[in-house]
Amino acid sequence: MAMNNVGRPSAPIAHEAAAPTTFSGARGLLQPTSLIFETGSIERTGVDLPPTKGLKARLSGLARQTSTGNPGLSEPEAMRHYVRLSQRNYAIDLGMFPLGSCTMKHNARLNEKMARLPGFADVHPLQPVSTVQGALGVMEQLSHWLITLTGMKGVALSPKAGAHGELCGMLAIHAALDAAGQSHRRRVLVPESAHGTNPATAVQCGFVVDEIKAAKDGRVDLDDLKTKLGEDVAGIMLTNPNTCGLFERDIRTIADLIHGSGGYFYCDGANFNAIAGRVRPGDLGVDAMHINLHKTFSTPHGGGGPGSGPTVLSDALAPFAPVPYVIKLADGKLDLVEHEDDSDGQPFGRMVAFHGQMGMYSRALTYMLSHGADGIKQASEDAVLNANYVQACLKDHMSVAFDGVCMHEALFDDAWLEGTGVSTLDFAKAMIDEGYHPMTMYFPLVVHGAMLIEPTESESKASLDAFIASMSGLALAAKSGDTARFTGAPYHAPVKRLDETRAARKPILKWAAPITPAQIAAE
Ligand SMILES: *Cc1c(COP(=O)(O)O)cnc(C)c1O
Repeated sequence: MAMNNVGRPSAPIAHEAAAPTTFSGARGLLQPTSLIFETGSIERTGVDLPPTKGLKARLSGLARQTSTGNPGLSEPEAMRHYVRLSQRNYAIDLGMFPLGSCTMKHNARLNEKMARLPGFADVHPLQPVSTVQGALGVMEQLSHWLITLTGMKGVALSPKAGAHGELCGMLAIHAALDAAGQSHRRRVLVPESAHGTNPATAVQCGFVVDEIKAAKDGRVDLDDLKTKLGEDVAGIMLTNPNTCGLFERDIRTIADLIHGSGGYFYCDGANFNAIAGRVRPGDLGVDAMHINLHKTFSTPHGGGGPGSGPTVLSDALAPFAPVPYVIKLADGKLDLVEHEDDSDGQPFGRMVAFHGQMGMYSRALTYMLSHGADGIKQASEDAVLNANYVQACLKDHMSVAFDGVCMHEALFDDAWLEGTGVSTLDFAKAMIDEGYHPMTMYFPLVVHGAMLIEPTESESKASLDAFIASMSGLALAAKSGDTARFTGAPYHAPVKRLDETRAARKPILKWAAPITPAQIAAE
């Protein structure tokens, strides 16, 4: 069999259809599994409790008479059900996850180990502060390093996701404008290429969104920006590096223009992993920026895992940070400022019931301390180097959306697919057959048929070479008319093409028991 340059057998088309179907429904070691309701039965249970003796029911006749309808499974049945499902899942622990904008980097086991220490994992949010000095210490140190890395004045730790952090920053801007008698400023400028959460956040805060055009080079169109400035502008929401994976090189000018017209500069910091340790957003004139701890500082995410979006704030906005926050008392002890009245500033309110995601704070701090200043800088540099390596190796096979070097993401458009009968979606499905989670597709919207690839610093050169070999193999196949490889893909996945529109619009979220012959007979 022919081998490609990374020692993988080069692909003859071996469509699954050629393989015999199995009697068990398994495909090799991949086991079949049905829904949990169809695996267990309501009448059975995996738990064997002795009958209660001598206890008086205290529910005064309110005890449930009917079954809860939960399936009863033995422990091995339950275990196998979930492990089999997990085999159908893709994970960063399984292979490269090039999903652009999401920063699917390796989650170091050391972070997990620290987060699971009972002192962090079992801490209760209502414990007296005298008993959680260590946990508050982690929050205080994390705040210190976030402020140091970003060159800002303060940080609100409590927001629970990037989008929540955006809300925090924009509410701080809202409060600052109101405090300055500038409540007529309600227009927020947002570039066309922005992540959808940016305009959504602005609207959620009661602002009106005004779109700024992208220039031909994928960056903010300065001339368009200038025409949009005015007395009613509250600020701008800008991502840097932007969602096209490019550094906004006029960022200082943009900051000056916004400040000059009386507005604030919100920076979407989801892409901070490209510049952490190299650039301090505070030096660029940023007033507020959220940091996705789960992206830049590595916490498992994407499968509904927790998020955390601390928001760093400039001198002008720091006084408006929400409660609660940690302070150091004169005797060196730490305390939480819980109420607006106890604050020296003018908090705009509170965003969460308690203090935020303890597990993520300990993971992020572990990541920072284990990397050190040089390691954080190197991680950013390697993320950028890896993306440029991918771009350079694929640019002759696929069309690069914007010329020149990129930051941490390589962005391609679909011009190179024209006339092949293969779409961006088809190409992504064929990547699944190759064993890769597809890249981000059709985002940013300013690029036609966009394919956004973010390898992150986690990938070795060997792993990037294997990915590039698959991608260029697919690109050649598309151009040479092997259309079926794409339009019928994925051939090797447990589920094939889904009706994605229907799945999004009319999802079936609840299992309904099939009607049994006995029920039919009873009617
Ligand atoms: C991920 C991301 C967000 C939103 O962050 P969440 O933590 O998912 O809420 C916002 N902007 C950009 C550019 C992102 O990549």
